[in-house]
Amino acid sequence: MLYIVSTPIGNLKDITLRALETLKSVDLIACEDTRHTRILTNHYQVQTPLTSYYEHNKLSKGPYLLRLLKEGKDIALVSDAGTPGISDPGYCIIKLAKDNGVPITAVPGPCALINALVLSNSAAGKFIFEGFLPPKQQARLKKLNSLKGEERTIIFYESPHRIIRSLEDIFEVFGDIKLAYVREATKKFEETKEGTVSFLLEHFKKHPPRGEFVLIWQIPASLK
Ligand code: SAM
Repeated sequence: MLYIVSTPIGNLKDITLRALETLKSVDLIACEDTRHTRILTNHYQVQTPLTSYYEHNKLSKGPYLLRLLKEGKDIALVSDAGTPGISDPGYCIIKLAKDNGVPITAVPGPCALINALVLSNSAAGKFIFEGFLPPKQQARLKKLNSLKGEERTIIFYESPHRIIRSLEDIFEVFGDIKLAYVREATKKFEETKEGTVSFLLEHFKKHPPRGEFVLIWQIPASLK
């Protein structure tokens, strides 16, 4: 069985009893970064061996993990934070396991986008999640333009290195609309901020972006 196990997005206490039970009982834990996951496993005295499964070894490591699963081993898949498979390499091993008839199940728990959505002031009933905006400006502007007319709440993951450029591009495509960000959720410096694009850009001049961000916004009816 492949267990897709959600882990904390910052606060180590955000782990379910079932997640801990699963991490302790499986034969192997496949994680993005063994050093990172070891902080969690050490904290909860999980003795299961860890193996890395990340963006740059996923093609070679996938078949190895599949072989173990086919031999009857139980593997837990975790990511650095949150729910594996959401904007991280987890989805490749999930697909490989499914395509090869391996039974899979999910042990639900934290997920950065859901956490941010409920903290924002945006309608949470209908939303679209677009992962990370493309790193290249041309592709980013194209993606943003494709969202014109979108009625649902829009959610993006964002890095501190790119958030200013993304906000500038949002300004270029949609003007000075309102947005919210959730930063460092569940951690000591958790922050939710809402305002126009120009307000947020001004804010970042005084407080350079640090940590992990989720952007949540809605296109105003006047622009649709
Ligand atoms: N699979 C994870 C999930 O959805 O739960 C997300 C993995 S993705 C590689 C990492 C991104 O998630 C970060 O760049 C950031 O945008 C978001 N993120 C993760 N933890 C966060 C936190 N504590 N606060 C805000 N955003 C976070």
